[in-house]
Amino acid sequence: MTPYDFDGIETRWQQRWTDDRAFEVTEDPQRPKFYCLEMLPYPSGNIHVGHVRNYCITDVVARYKRMRGFNVLHPIGWDALGMPAENAAIQRGTHPEKWTRENIAGMKRQLQRMGFSYPWSREIATCDPEYYRWNQWFFLRMLEKGIAYRRKAAVNWCPSCQTVLANEQAEGGECWRCHSKVEERELDQWFLRITDYQDQLLDDMAQLSAWPERVLVQQRNWIGRSTGAEVDFAVEGGEPITVFTTRIDTIYGATFLVLAPEHPRLEGLMAQGAAGEAVARLRAQDRRARQAGQVEKEGVFTGRYAINPFTGERIPIWAGNFVLMGYGTGAIMAVPGHDQRDFEFARKYGLPVRTVILPEGAAATADTLAAAYEGPGSTVDSGRFSGLASDDATVAMTAHAQEKRFGRVAVTYRLKDWLISRQRYWGTPIPVVYCEKDGAVGVPDDQLPVVLPKDAPFTGEGGNPLEKVPEFVAARCPRCGGPARRETDTMDTFVDSSWYFYRYLSPRKDDGPFDGAAMRYWFPIDLYVGGTEHAILHLVYSRFWTKVMRDLGLVPFDEPVTRLFPQGMVHKDGEVMSKSKGNTVAPDDVIRAYGADTLRLYILSVAPPEMAMEWTDANIEGERRLINRLWRLVDRHAETLVGEGGAAASHLPPAGLELRRKVHQTIRRVTEDIDERIHLNTAVAAFHELVNEVYRLEAEVQSGAGRPALREALETLVLLMNPFTPHICEEMWARLGHAEGLVSHPWPAADEAAAREEAVQLAVQVNGKVRGHVMVAPDATEDEVRRAALEEPRVREHLAGRPIAKFVLVPGRLVSVVVR
Ligand SMILES: [Zn+2]
Ligand SMILES: [Zn+2]
Repeated sequence: MTPYDFDGIETRWQQRWTDDRAFEVTEDPQRPKFYCLEMLPYPSGNIHVGHVRNYCITDVVARYKRMRGFNVLHPIGWDALGMPAENAAIQRGTHPEKWTRENIAGMKRQLQRMGFSYPWSREIATCDPEYYRWNQWFFLRMLEKGIAYRRKAAVNWCPSCQTVLANEQAEGGECWRCHSKVEERELDQWFLRITDYQDQLLDDMAQLSAWPERVLVQQRNWIGRSTGAEVDFAVEGGEPITVFTTRIDTIYGATFLVLAPEHPRLEGLMAQGAAGEAVARLRAQDRRARQAGQVEKEGVFTGRYAINPFTGERIPIWAGNFVLMGYGTGAIMAVPGHDQRDFEFARKYGLPVRTVILPEGAAATADTLAAAYEGPGSTVDSGRFSGLASDDATVAMTAHAQEKRFGRVAVTYRLKDWLISRQRYWGTPIPVVYCEKDGAVGVPDDQLPVVLPKDAPFTGEGGNPLEKVPEFVAARCPRCGGPARRETDTMDTFVDSSWYFYRYLSPRKDDGPFDGAAMRYWFPIDLYVGGTEHAILHLVYSRFWTKVMRDLGLVPFDEPVTRLFPQGMVHKDGEVMSKSKGNTVAPDDVIRAYGADTLRLYILSVAPPEMAMEWTDANIEGERRLINRLWRLVDRHAETLVGEGGAAASHLPPAGLELRRKVHQTIRRVTEDIDERIHLNTAVAAFHELVNEVYRLEAEVQSGAGRPALREALETLVLLMNPFTPHICEEMWARLGHAEGLVSHPWPAADEAAAREEAVQLAVQVNGKVRGHVMVAPDATEDEVRRAALEEPRVREHLAGRPIAKFVLVPGRLVSVVVR
């Protein structure tokens, strides 16, 4: 027997696909298209099993769609800019580009060794100036439209390294390099006005019916649109303060106001001295921890009072660290009876807690309240609004506030404009120069790309390395020709990944970001597979980017992705794989021991692709065994089957018919599993069943009239498994006598007649209890079933000759007979 030499087989077929340019595609209006996309990897150094799982899913779908006659675009590239390369440069004294290019080369070799069906001619790396040039071009278009703008914003600052730190470099408030305490600094930075698109981002979700609801929920929460009311509270001896609330129905319980420590009114409200210092202390607390509610609630009384416009009551004004400036108005009316944060704050500082909403049938009082009641109910102690349901009270009180001109309906969002400035080297230079006379001026298109200088110093100290390259910083003002200073901030790498999937259409195009005709042919993306961790950020930014492109007249649609499919994580020993836990698996090791086909089959066999999977070495053996068993069958019979005619179904012996039935049932099942649901694990289970069936019937079909059934079974297995284990399937296909490869071979069609069971078993119930079983033809009429059921000996016994009151047939499952 021929041993299964996976290494030889796999490298041979990979070379053949490369030589044949098997996965290169061009636009072909005669054929239906399928754009199958995966999230492009960051070149960190190694492909990990999470990538492998992602790319195996898309590769099965891509190869399957090709066999179904689709023109399939399944490209890959590298999300190659970003902080890790710069950190590596600082720590190892290398250059970020060198580190990145070496990692790309290594990871590309790993992807090729997996046999993924990529058109490598379309490979892109976002660190190529020919790629990031178009980031700059888009930025300039947004600058013209007022979507890109500049304002002051806080950054993390390490006072000893004298440099800006990314959030990841400032975890726990400490510098990653020198462990100094991180400070906050205000710098001029560039933003993209994504908030102009917040309603569209929400409303266009109606077009995303093939996106998982959980992703849309996360996006909705991130955008955080809430409708409520703004209410002005008069201030004694000052201008009124406006608060935003979604619970105006609780306003009779508002017993104090709280302002964010950054609120611009605070300074004017407060006496100088101790209170001012206390507020400054609150302001210095870690903003992210405050946002996440991870800091102990603290506050300072300003010494001033406001008037509750509904009750006329005098209530104190506080500053509190749990109120944030950028949400609503930066000021809240505190209703401790009905908001837990306000409740905790009120208990700590001895402020009054009042119940103004009672849940159905409850009678809690504020004195004994252990927690705020945040649900709806009906109003009590609310003046002329008492006794209303929460919803009605909201409407009535908002109308009242509007009428009296101290309030109005308001909508607020959690989403902030997108801060894209990074004070780092390894990113896209922001194409702007600063002129003393003209201010910030965009670099003209014909001077793009603004290329990163090669020789910047990477020390981790003293700020952005780009600032230390005088020939980069020195520029001419495009408007007046005078001396100017070049912007040294680079772009957030989420810019790169917001539109990369358009660049695959025409990756070398140098007079535009992508080709319009190719875009109209390939878009929208039919399937996009990636990790759930990208539900927000990347997947919101890329939707935003497409809408901006639409408004620039570049694309004719609102949404770039028709179907999103987030794949589950890979766990080992019950935990997410990670270097720090020491439970990672290196795909290279698995390929060396088992081959790429076994790894591909295994990683798809364990769980539905959208669920987490548990990696167990023992279970790889099961998939290796399946491949080996099929290989042995083909090895035993290929020679004698080659040259046989096609399946002559009419002359098959019973074992041949039985095998043929299983073959066509398997075609039907695997097709359904891949096509709509992408339940690839159940498809793998079907391969196991069919291989078992071939072994069970092998002796009866390997000679004589059964042989066409054996041939059909083996060839069908090879075709169905080809998207999963393409190398060995190509090899077996060739050994079965076929000269043409499998890349575009038609997918087998299920013959419904052949797949039909000869007889189905039905349970027969008498007065609700199963009393016997009958075998009937699958297309038997109700009369035929009735006759068979009533004649079944045990059923007859239980009927005991009584008249039938009711007869119900549930086709394929059971018969129910009721007698009196
Ligand atoms: Zn430092
Ligand atoms: Zn100028």
